[in-house]
Amino acid sequence: MFTKIIDQDKITKVADLIDKADKAVIVTHVSPDGDAIGSSLGLYHYLIDQGLDATIIVPNEFPYFLKWLKGSKDILIYEKYPEFAEKLISETDLIFCLDFNVLSRIKNVGVAVEASKAKKVLIDHHPYPSDFSNVCISHPEISSTSELVFRLICRMGDFEMMSKDSAEAIYMGMMTDTGAFTYNSNDAQIYYIIAQLLNKGIDKDFIYSKVYHSYTADRYRMMGHMLSERMKIYEEYGAGLIWLDNEDQKRFNSQKGDTEGFANLPLNIQGVTFSVFLREDDDMIKVSLRSQGDFPCNTFASQCFNGGGHLNASGGEFFGSLVEAIDLFERTLPEYADLLISNKNNLEKK
Ligand code: 5GP
Ligand code: MN
Repeated sequence: MFTKIIDQDKITKVADLIDKADKAVIVTHVSPDGDAIGSSLGLYHYLIDQGLDATIIVPNEFPYFLKWLKGSKDILIYEKYPEFAEKLISETDLIFCLDFNVLSRIKNVGVAVEASKAKKVLIDHHPYPSDFSNVCISHPEISSTSELVFRLICRMGDFEMMSKDSAEAIYMGMMTDTGAFTYNSNDAQIYYIIAQLLNKGIDKDFIYSKVYHSYTADRYRMMGHMLSERMKIYEEYGAGLIWLDNEDQKRFNSQKGDTEGFANLPLNIQGVTFSVFLREDDDMIKVSLRSQGDFPCNTFASQCFNGGGHLNASGGEFFGSLVEAIDLFERTLPEYADLLISNKNNLEKK
């Protein structure tokens, strides 16, 4: 029923690599989001069921509202156990690199991955993958890496043996990378895949609730503070900026994952099609960019914030103060005036 988007040649190679391997490591990007964790766990359960000794290694902590997933407690956090993680990476047969396109996105884990003699398989949906893997399954037209993992398992002929735990993780990743199917989600095949996952016994409403109804009260108080005190709307450009400094985050006991979804908030405002969220971190400003329509936030991210990502959802890092980051954003906005205004007009005409 669904189109074969991954080359047969790559499917055969991955199946062969899994067949020959005893041990596998799955790595995913820094500050892992729902798709990073979902695709990793979806594949992890599959590999375990295939008899492999598999481990997921993430560079740093991941959000608390993803910790209910089966297998999430076994995820190894590199920052906590660097030597152990490096040993596993150097001794493994096979490394799966999920939901990132360049090794710098996995920070120090990348050094160990590059040095490892293991075969490497990249499965990702970000544009411009770099050339470090033996098999590169890169599909920017697909809205989540989790969907690619589903497609890979099916094409290897193993849909029947996919477990409910794997299906649950895959659904969670597909859901979070599309804002619960509110953007990048017009491909009819997504819903065909969801039907298949439901047949595995997942409860999609339960999964939604676990992810989106599990925040702390402090997170909502921080959001309220941000929306009233830390938001600027640039009506002429249809753009919005929000930010949080260190003090704000301390005041509201911000935890990993608490700012997830904030970058999208200005897009809820009539006429706003481009949104930027700046969050002060210990040694840099973390930047999240979102857009609607054709406005390329990845171009803006790479021009100003050493970043990249997708057309409508990108990120980056700024090394300087919050005031300097705001200033750079405001100085750059006029350069994008034509693009922003034509995008806004196109969306209004729709
Ligand atoms: P988020 O804003 O949720 O952190 O990231 C959204 C998307 O932007 C991610 O899926 C990823 O593609 C991209 N992204 C986030 N941070 C960075 C970064 O520091 N560098 C690059 N190249 N891409 C990023
Ligand atoms: Mn993703």
